[in-house]
Amino acid sequence: MKKKYKILLLSLVFMFTALFLYQVGKVNKDDDVISGIYDRKFNDYVVFYPQHQDDEVLWGGSAIVEAIRQRGSDHVFVVLVSDGSGVNVFKNKQYKGLSREEKSKLRNNEFKAALKDMGISEENTIILSQIDDNEGTHFEKMKETALEFERKCKSVTHIAHSYKYDNHPMHRRNGKVIQKLYSNNEIKDAIYFIKPDYAKKVKKEKRVIYISKNNEDYKKIKDACLEYKLINKAANRYGIGYTSAHTYFDYLLRDKHLTSILHLPLKK
Ligand SMILES: [Zn+2]
Repeated sequence: MKKKYKILLLSLVFMFTALFLYQVGKVNKDDDVISGIYDRKFNDYVVFYPQHQDDEVLWGGSAIVEAIRQRGSDHVFVVLVSDGSGVNVFKNKQYKGLSREEKSKLRNNEFKAALKDMGISEENTIILSQIDDNEGTHFEKMKETALEFERKCKSVTHIAHSYKYDNHPMHRRNGKVIQKLYSNNEIKDAIYFIKPDYAKKVKKEKRVIYISKNNEDYKKIKDACLEYKLINKAANRYGIGYTSAHTYFDYLLRDKHLTSILHLPLKK
């Protein structure tokens, strides 16, 4: 009799363990689909403000492609805030002696190619370091540009980096420019890129998610990623983006949805 109970108990333990492992497996399997607001509508004009060359595709590739689908490529703009010349990769001796402008140009070659793959025209690409008279950060110019879009285009969605959840201080400063305008009611609609590591910090009611919807979208974004990896010295291509942020690129490319995670303003 005792033995029978033992067997029964052992079978129960076994069954529950199996069920538990199955559930855990299921959760993990579904976990690549993150909860949040999907397919949020953009305003008539959409302006993305990546801080560096590569931020646009790493955090916003699917958002850019969706913005073009919703509003047409004429209505979608990308404004690059930093010249990107400060990246660590340039400490490598092969870049020794290059001026700030030359470094920036090498990064812009990758950036322009990536934007083209995603459907952003050159006319809709604004590189602040090329139009700002001052060297250094271009946050003042970023603010002026945002206000100019708002004044001219009226219905605009502005997309900057998270002003709160990002380990890069320049990303947070970039986000603060837009958040400040939003808090002061100088712009009407703003959302913010977050790196996947921070996604859980934001409640799902505030999370905005864009994913690639078909093979065509997927290919555009993947091609854009590969522009940052391409090495072809004859064409002045050095794979700088990928060298400096390969873990982020690899992470994104492992995601079959190429998910862009953003958040709404957290409070006004
Ligand atoms: Zn960046």
